Amino acid sequence: MMPKRTPLLQIVSGAGAKGPACFVVETGGPRLMLDLGYGPQPGLWPDVSAVGPVDALLLSHGHADHAGGLKLRAAIGDPPLWASEPVLRGLPSGLPCHTLPLQGSSEVLGIPVRCGRSGHAPGGIWIHLAVGDGLLYMGDNSVESALYAFDPPPPAATVIVDASYGDYDEALESCQRNLAPAVARGSLLLPVPETGRGPEIALHLYRAGVTPHLSSAMREALLRLATVDRAVLCADVAETLADIAACAPAIDVPQGVMLAGRADGAGGECAMLLERWRAAAEPAMVFTGYLPPGTPAATLTAAGRAQYQRWNVHPRLSDNAALVKATGARTVIAAFGDARHRDAWQHAFAPAQLLLQGPVPL
Ligand SMILES: [Zn+2]
Repeated sequence: MMPKRTPLLQIVSGAGAKGPACFVVETGGPRLMLDLGYGPQPGLWPDVSAVGPVDALLLSHGHADHAGGLKLRAAIGDPPLWASEPVLRGLPSGLPCHTLPLQGSSEVLGIPVRCGRSGHAPGGIWIHLAVGDGLLYMGDNSVESALYAFDPPPPAATVIVDASYGDYDEALESCQRNLAPAVARGSLLLPVPETGRGPEIALHLYRAGVTPHLSSAMREALLRLATVDRAVLCADVAETLADIAACAPAIDVPQGVMLAGRADGAGGECAMLLERWRAAAEPAMVFTGYLPPGTPAATLTAAGRAQYQRWNVHPRLSDNAALVKATGARTVIAAFGDARHRDAWQHAFAPAQLLLQGPVPL
């Protein structure tokens, strides 16, 4: 009889630096890939040339740096996809797809899987695989969102945490306070992702008595959340989102607080608005997310035309430390953050062992 192989986690891309997410789980049976992203820097693809055939591709959420690399599927044997319904709805049609639950248990090719909402984006989930002593993949997550619900994950010996923010540890409330003067001033353009912090900022503003102006894609996103995707929301916010979508003015001249995608300004209605107003005195512009090099987000802030104020959509260092403790993890892979934070992570996650490279025995 052949000895049973130890299950392994291979880190293809996504640890040690901000980059596209891509992990492979060698279960000893089917080979599972977790996410296949692209970016966030333009032109940044994961190198899947040595991965070989994969049996299933599981997606944590629909953001490009987690699900934007689907055209690489041919290089890994065209595996079928598993993701939550809201994420599947946003994928190109014609792909072989299976549904993962937003909350609860399922199975992928015989491997028991548990999922829960990750508090980050519509349909965003963490994924727990009953492989080895348990692997928990957080994808991107946040425990601070007033919009997207977060379900506490189960114990796991190995956890891939969303360490996008390195050693950053400010509360979302402090981000909101810092943004308040620009909001009070009016005539403010906020480039945001429609499927991320955009609707969350709209909800925050509305609750604070400020009705935002919305691009048409933002309005559609709010309506989708309030109806077909309402299962991803915290309790009691769906009706408020529908109210905002119904009463928010469109974006026309520089006036009020204006929400438009994309967040990096490199596409969508936002790209057009930035082009129109970049040389004008109004409106003020504040970017609130990652500033990918080479995009308007990076160039306009570097030139002083736009400001930057983070709006938390990823966990703080103390959130990740609490997660590691709650799951009882022995091994932690800090994903999506810069390796220069290694010492802070190691200190925060001790006595768990910190790894930034695979293969990791499970
Ligand atoms: Zn994301």
